[in-house]
Amino acid sequence: MTLDDLPIREELRGRSPYGAPQLDVPVRLNTNENSYPLPDEVVEAIAAAVTAQLRQLNRYPDRDAVALRTDLAGYLGHQLTADEVWAANGSNEIQQQLLQAFAGPGRVALGFTPAYSMHPLLSVGTGTGWIDGHRGPDFGLTAAHAVAQIREHQPDLVFLCSPNNPTGTALDPQVVDAVLAAAPGMVVVDEAYAEFARPGTPTALALLPGHPRLVVTRTMSKAFGFAGGRLGYLAAHPAVVDAVQLVRLPYHLSALTQAAARAALAHRDTLLGTVRTIMVERDRIVTGLRRLGLSVADSDANFVLFAVDAGPSGTDGPGGDQRRVWQALLDRGVLVRDVGLPGWLRVTAGTPEETEAFLTAMTDLTAEANLTAEANVTATANGVTR
Ligand SMILES: *Cc1c(COP(=O)(O)O)cnc(C)c1O
Repeated sequence: MTLDDLPIREELRGRSPYGAPQLDVPVRLNTNENSYPLPDEVVEAIAAAVTAQLRQLNRYPDRDAVALRTDLAGYLGHQLTADEVWAANGSNEIQQQLLQAFAGPGRVALGFTPAYSMHPLLSVGTGTGWIDGHRGPDFGLTAAHAVAQIREHQPDLVFLCSPNNPTGTALDPQVVDAVLAAAPGMVVVDEAYAEFARPGTPTALALLPGHPRLVVTRTMSKAFGFAGGRLGYLAAHPAVVDAVQLVRLPYHLSALTQAAARAALAHRDTLLGTVRTIMVERDRIVTGLRRLGLSVADSDANFVLFAVDAGPSGTDGPGGDQRRVWQALLDRGVLVRDVGLPGWLRVTAGTPEETEAFLTAMTDLTAEANLTAEANVTATANGVTR
């Protein structure tokens, strides 16, 4: 018996689950995690906070996670308060709750790919119609294009992603303004990578006053190095928080998660201390790849999207097929992400040693490709055909 023999919902038939490979290799740069393990002082604080909860595990946790939401509001600033913040097991769960409350069967969500691959998956999972508004050939998104798509499809929910995964670049604030003005329904700005944005990059948090249908989602999975802790959150009008409470599971956020996240937030200066280092590594990756002649998207995140081929000459870069380059990097112990964009790969910025390993592998692959190209040119000049 297989999945196909089960009476599964038609729209789930033939689909693949989210599945970035979890391989045990020396250099893991494929899921945009923070490469730095938590420092001892934070480990101890989290252990103490979790331990303090253990005797009360016979009781359900605070359903509304008020203390945690208060701490998150304090971290976000912008004069936000606990009633404007909601927390869940990762921003994926937050976005699922938003779709359950504001979209679902008979309604549609609009996004602009390439963007976060979970937006369409969460839409399908909640019975929401998914409409792909696409980005331009350069992966850019203009206000005019976004507004035209909104006018055409009248979506119940619009997903924006800034800085955008997998391209890395933050949205032009004019796009967010235009989308807010044109959208008939909810506008969700996924800011999972906000902490890594280049200086001067605005956050949609500043737009919350006066925009009750705007929701900004954030996560502790990236900058905070808390991916294993599973903590995502949103900031929005208090009525939006009331709405997601209608669909959340009772006691969705365990007492252990709440305690651990609060302890991590209390040590945010230490945890976020790695952000600057990671930004330096990101910029080193961008420069290093450009030096190899490759096209690289500007990045406001902790990852870089790069073309594996420099262009028509074929003598720069390791060569055109991203699946081959992905495998060749893996053979050298470096795991990056094939996001399904022909000719492009995504690499996470981590430690200086990881940057070194990645750039060395890319330099080797490029040199090999150039040798092969030269050999082919020589062979052709000598009248030898392959
Ligand atoms: C990594 C990522 C998230 C994080 O999801 P969590 O469930 O919070 O771990 C959200 N949005 C985008 C665009 C991401 O890349």
